[in-house]
Amino acid sequence: MSKETLQAVRGMNDILPEEAELWLWFEEVVRDWLHGYGYRNIRMPLVEPTALFKRAIGEVTDIVEKEMYSFEDSLNGDHLTLRPEGTASCVRAVLQHNLLYNAPQRLYYSGQMFRHERPQKGRYRQFHQVGVEALGFGGPDIDAEQIIMCARLWRKLGLRDVTLQLNTLGDSASRQRHRDKLIAYFEQHKEVLDADATRRLHSNPLRILDSKNPAMQDIIAGAPKLMDELEEDAIKHFEELQAILKRHDIAFEINPRLVRGLDYYNRTVFEWVTTRLGAQGTICAGGRYDGLVEQIGGKPAPAMGFAMGVERLLALVQEDGMIAPKPEVDVYVVHQGELAGQMASSVAEQLRDEKLRVLLHCGGGSFKSQMKKADGSGARIALVIGDDEAQANEVSIKPMQGGDQVRVSVQNLIATINQIIK
Ligand code: ATP
Ligand code: MG
Repeated sequence: MSKETLQAVRGMNDILPEEAELWLWFEEVVRDWLHGYGYRNIRMPLVEPTALFKRAIGEVTDIVEKEMYSFEDSLNGDHLTLRPEGTASCVRAVLQHNLLYNAPQRLYYSGQMFRHERPQKGRYRQFHQVGVEALGFGGPDIDAEQIIMCARLWRKLGLRDVTLQLNTLGDSASRQRHRDKLIAYFEQHKEVLDADATRRLHSNPLRILDSKNPAMQDIIAGAPKLMDELEEDAIKHFEELQAILKRHDIAFEINPRLVRGLDYYNRTVFEWVTTRLGAQGTICAGGRYDGLVEQIGGKPAPAMGFAMGVERLLALVQEDGMIAPKPEVDVYVVHQGELAGQMASSVAEQLRDEKLRVLLHCGGGSFKSQMKKADGSGARIALVIGDDEAQANEVSIKPMQGGDQVRVSVQNLIATINQIIK
């Protein structure tokens, strides 16, 4: 009886070597870019107490209501969740280790996130984000820095057709005022609300504004505007941010309907969007979250951050025809016979001591078939070790791009290789 082949979990993808080359290239570009702005790496666990996300993201959000992989640890009854995003964990770690004690922090992380969504192009159940958080900074200068740095990354990656959407959500008092007005307004139009909107009326009325129901568009259009409630400080913050962006020639569109799906945002929110990935066009999103540190139990501290979706970004990079460079091989070692085999593996080790990239042929076969592999590997040099060479403690060197094969003693090997390669 043949065994059923096991498959990866739906919506969770393998990244095979060919594609992984693009990921490695991307990770290198991203690391250089982040270090260019003084951001430092932090690494948090993939699993956190469920309570952290409920408290940070908000009980009545898509993520907490229906997207989290939450489970009870059967060994001790703990309530745990695979992280659906990084900001909550990052703030938790910063507070747990008192990192904000005497200085603000610029931090970044990257890795898997988990959300139980319907898998489709650009939307997976395990996906990757690069997250950037600046904690302890209150001014619009850091908001601008994060947006300007995104623009630089898009240039480095060669992306076209990415646009910036910007909005401000004001502070908690204005949001509360707006919320109360929304509830009162929609209460007056109860007969037009659909079931979803009725359910959200008191828990998350802001979300009614996102509804696509055609029958509700008229009352949505007439709903009280947050813009009319904004405090003077929040308006000034937003205007200063816009002025800095203009000075840096960063184009943006103000989108009053951009509210973001998580509860913790206030003031600046933004999304970078492309029209070239279909419905999943948001490649990067973020905003200010001045209340979160206190909400998770720390002393109040302002903060601003964003996350980019790596799968969506790389899809766009590939659309633009970017092909990542393959890892290079300097030397392929071909050998036949027992003594030659022993010599080959020790020679390969010596070459690696010299920082050369060496592929040692494994699995036997004729010289001819081994040379084919050497050719296919892209190596610049093949070393050939047969019985003859092994007896004499010598190695034959064959330059792969043409040129004569030479035979040298093992002592002169490295000097000769360096001559050929340089
Ligand atoms: P969307 O509106 O597309 O569901 P979101 O607002 O839920 O996005 P965020 O929580 O802001 O997304 O996450 C930041 C970025 O992570 C998104 O802009 C997107 O690029 C990426 N992302 C979010 N969810 C997924 C997913 N399920 N699969 C792949 N990428 C994702
Ligand atoms: Mg989502």
